[in-house]
This record gives sequence, C-alpha cells and structure tokens, in this order.
Amino acid sequence: MAGNWCRVQGIALRQGTNTKNIWVAMVDGEDAFYGRLTDRSLAGELLTTEEGLRILQDEKLELLLLLQAAYRVRAHHFGRRVRVQVLNNVQNGYCPEDCHYCAQSVQSEAAITRYRIKGEEEILAEAERAWQAGMYRYCMVLSGRGPNAGRVEQMADLVRRIKSRCSIEVCLSAGFIDRKMAAVLKEAGLDRYNHNLNTAEGHYGAICRTHTYQDRLATLQAARAEGLQVCSGLIVGMGESDADIVTVANHLRTLQARSIPVNFYMYIPGSPLGDVAHGLTPERCLRILCLFRFLNPDAEIRAAGGRELHLRSLAALALYPANGLFSAGYLNVAGQSTAEVQQMIQDAGFEVETVEEAE
Ligand code: SF4
Repeated sequence: MAGNWCRVQGIALRQGTNTKNIWVAMVDGEDAFYGRLTDRSLAGELLTTEEGLRILQDEKLELLLLLQAAYRVRAHHFGRRVRVQVLNNVQNGYCPEDCHYCAQSVQSEAAITRYRIKGEEEILAEAERAWQAGMYRYCMVLSGRGPNAGRVEQMADLVRRIKSRCSIEVCLSAGFIDRKMAAVLKEAGLDRYNHNLNTAEGHYGAICRTHTYQDRLATLQAARAEGLQVCSGLIVGMGESDADIVTVANHLRTLQARSIPVNFYMYIPGSPLGDVAHGLTPERCLRILCLFRFLNPDAEIRAAGGRELHLRSLAALALYPANGLFSAGYLNVAGQSTAEVQQMIQDAGFEVETVEEAE
C-alpha cells in the first residue's frame, strides 16, 4: 500500500515527464473513486461486484483514504459513537452440528469448558453487570442446533426479567427457530435475534455438512417476519473467495440485517477446520470492514471475533468503518477487557454509546 508514490515516481522517471503532474492525475482519479464510494453509499446505491472486489484487492487504493471514505458514511449515521456489546455464553459445547470452524461442534476436540445452560440468577447478574459497565447490548448465546419450545419460553422469561431491571438491548443467539418461537421472543421484548450466515452459499458446504445456508436463511426470515430485528454476519478467513465476501455483504443488505458482526477466523486447537492459511492481515480486515460499511450504510457494523488477533496494533482504525465492538472476549477465546476497550475508544477520539443516549 505504501507503493503509490514510488510507482508514480517510477513512471515519471521512465517516461521523463513531470512527476508532480502524474501524481496529481493519479490522486485525482483515485480521489474520485473514494468520493464516489461515499456518495453512492449515502445515497443508498449498490456497488457493482467489481467495485466491491476493488475495495478488497486494489493495492493502488490507499488504506487511510478508504477508511476516511467509509468513516464519512459511518459518521453520517452514527457520529463518533461506538456500541459495545458483551457476549454471554449461557450454554457451551455439546452441539450435534458439525460447523468446522466451531470449537463446540460435535467433531471438535478443542479443550473448551462444556456446560449445560447456566442458572437464571447467574445470567441475570451478568446482564446487570454489563448494563452497569455501560454496555449497549447483552447477547445470550446458546450452543446447539436450536431450542425446543420449553427453552424458548425460558429465554423469553429471562428477556422479560432483564428488561425489567436494566436499560440495555437484549439479543439472543440460540440456533434455528421458526415463526412461532420468534413470536414468543418478540412478545417478551427481545430486541434482536442473531443467526450468522457465516459465509456465502457457494462456500457453505466447505464449512458445514449438517445444515445448509438455506436453513440459516429460513431462521432469519422467521425472525424478521415476527418483527425481530436481525443480527447476522460472517466469519472471514475460512477459505472463501473475495467474491464470496462481496456476495455476503450484499445478501445481508437484502435481508436488512440491522447489525452485522464481521468475525475474523480464530483457530482454537482441536477445531475441525484447522489452522487454515487465512491471509488475514490488519489491512485486509480493515478493507473488509469498509466494504461492509459501504454496502450496509446504516447497519451496525461490528468488528467482532478475532479483532484483537488479526487487527493487532491497527485495531483502533476499525472504529472508522465499524460502530460496534465486543468487549470481554468471545465464546471460547479471551479478548480485550471492558476497560481496555473503553480506553481504546477514548484514545481514538470516539465515545461509548449507551441505550439511554441512543433513545
Ligand atoms: S456454530 Fe452453533 S450450530 Fe454450529 S457447531 Fe457451533 S454451536 Fe453448534
């Protein structure tokens, strides 16, 4: 990425022309591209596949200018506010599905702590702690293919009790649900239902064999049909193509996903997918976040699992395209503490958003 200036100088020397003019011409051309991305995104226009791929691949595009273009869209919809979310893995492991990336899958040999559902008082206490720490959203995650009717009733009751005590948004991720289940959760006051698409339909068979992309879509459609907001994202770095990433970004736009967690694959030893050559450099992660912002301008784009591992020292730059983060770790992987996340947000000149402020 640092090469534009050198390349332009190289052309100038070879051609014996005025370096400054060529540089200006080059910058003008690229400037037009960055500006077009912002303007078209703000106008609600789609990008072509070629434009999406260019964001991911074109080394002539300067990362900082791309981030600035994405930031203008983010700032229009969310200012400098950041929604911090806490995950609570209320049930871990013992899953009959074979999602190859997941340490909780039936085929995983990962050394994780497996447990059935936590006690209700423990779940409630964790929600209260998240609210008191200024978190925007509390997300309860259950491993497994999907809940039965009794479990849905139990989760609905928990949602009611959390909502009666805390001013915090509540999200549930519990696997496949149908419309009847979605209606029960909606009636209880659940704000969002999470169910990730994970990857493009054409790549889905390479990451799971016990269910299909269409199965996942059906749950998202059921949740939306009953008025629940949809949270759905992907995991990049699982051998998918760049075109797959663009396809998912477009599909989530079509599904009107209100929040989009962009996860960066983290290998947990023993997980079936293995330590694949993911190619996730900090710059690539940032370009992916920019792509999702341009294609989903008013959605909550979250720099999700793997942020610390793959963005490393550039993690704060994720706040330019993204307006959401997780704190206090992920399902089976530690992450930055809430205090560290809040410090990073403050140091970068952004501010933590609470539900009260959003209202
Ligand atoms: S991602 Fe969910 S459904 Fe798939 S194996 Fe993990 S817990 Fe089970």
